[in-house]
Amino acid sequence: MEYRKNDMITVEIVDCGTDGEGIGKADGFTVFVKDAVIGDVVSAKIMKAKKNYGYARLTEVLKPSPYRVKPVCPSARQCGGCQLQALSYEQQLVFKEKKLRGNLERIGGFKDIPMEPIMGMEEPWHYRNKAQFPVGRNKEGRLITGFYAGRTHVIIENRDCALGVPQNKEILDRVLAHMERFHIEPYNETTGQGLVRHIFIRCGFYTGELMVCLVINGASVPGQKELTASLKEIPGMTSICLNINRKRSNVILGDQVKILWGQGYITDKIGEVAYQISPLSFFQVNPRQTVKLYAKALEYADLHGTETVWDLYCGIGTISLFLAQKAKFVRGVEIVPEAIEDARRNARLNDIQNAEFYVGKAEEVLPEYYARYEQEHGAKAHADVIVVDPPRKGCDEALLDTIVKMQPERVVYVSCDSATLARDLRYLCDRGYGLTKVCGADMFPQGVHVESVVLMSKVKK
Ligand code: SAH
Repeated sequence: MEYRKNDMITVEIVDCGTDGEGIGKADGFTVFVKDAVIGDVVSAKIMKAKKNYGYARLTEVLKPSPYRVKPVCPSARQCGGCQLQALSYEQQLVFKEKKLRGNLERIGGFKDIPMEPIMGMEEPWHYRNKAQFPVGRNKEGRLITGFYAGRTHVIIENRDCALGVPQNKEILDRVLAHMERFHIEPYNETTGQGLVRHIFIRCGFYTGELMVCLVINGASVPGQKELTASLKEIPGMTSICLNINRKRSNVILGDQVKILWGQGYITDKIGEVAYQISPLSFFQVNPRQTVKLYAKALEYADLHGTETVWDLYCGIGTISLFLAQKAKFVRGVEIVPEAIEDARRNARLNDIQNAEFYVGKAEEVLPEYYARYEQEHGAKAHADVIVVDPPRKGCDEALLDTIVKMQPERVVYVSCDSATLARDLRYLCDRGYGLTKVCGADMFPQGVHVESVVLMSKVKK
């Protein structure tokens, strides 16, 4: 059946889209309904229709889903941060596991997937160690901070996000009070004028250390002394920085960091390993789950002290140093130079001597290493285990190709996007590897993203 704009439709919501919208199907027509939850039967008005699919506005929940819950945060519906707050946490986990399995089946063409139960959180709130709050003015001209509404840059006012640490509120209160006192303008994306763009906060869960980094469209902030004096009163404050970003783009952080007070990093611990983290470096945002994720990666790597391991997309060396405790030697590769500086410092900090780090693109560093090794030694470079943890776009084919050439016994793939994961696993499985184990890890409760870790093993000939 064909639908047109303004038609009414009654559907059961069976799935959830990338922005958390409900997905329903009626007579071969797929409809996306914002604010509808898996299991709801809803009536909705079509706003935009193509041949096989369309977007509709929820008009009535005819039969609420048994999995519907009252969102904890009053801004949950408008805010673009949490997409799944109206779905019970148990069902969020079911949804994520299904999405992972579905992508491996559909995109990867896998059957009989060896899935372990997804690793969820006991307390799926206040788990984030990092937050980036945009600053602006509301319609009345009042200075506000909070989060962007879904798909827009309208700021939803909120200083006390249910995913963040309680210290965020105090920090935001003080920064905004400082801006009022010194008449500091927030950055305006439309005009490119104004100074303060974002307030970036990091918290070490294990150490309690705090970092505040103001992202500014300028070189300094009026009243810097007063600002640091106010912020350093907050218990745990370790690092107060400025990040210079004068670009007219959506990218939050610029390349340059100035330390105003304290150190340029905070320290945190995952398991037995301590890490120093600077503002420009990637660090997993959910430390309680990161321990589980890395422990799973370590279990899959199955190290006994004799192995040579590569950790590609290594960030500040988090996984590398975790693995180095059990391997003979680990080599990490990462594109952000500051992250590699952190990685080297972190190796020293933990007195880990069997790890080495390279700055560059994984898809260039590994192939070049392989080619050079062959030239110099007349033999193939060998690795026992290769770990990859790429950003959402997954691995470059040049990298996967070199992995196949190096023939490691095991490939451990940590993924934050199950679609590109499925594509990359298919590539490896067509070239001598088998899917041995798959495990989801919920790094982002209340949000739609699915993290997972996968073990691929060389097929014995
Ligand atoms: N394994 C780390 C980081 C994973 S996030 C951890 O768990 O903390 C992915 C990392 O890949 C980021 O640090 C990002 O800067 C880096 N990156 C992105 N593209 C890359 C590329 N082409 N080559 C190497 N690293 C890359």
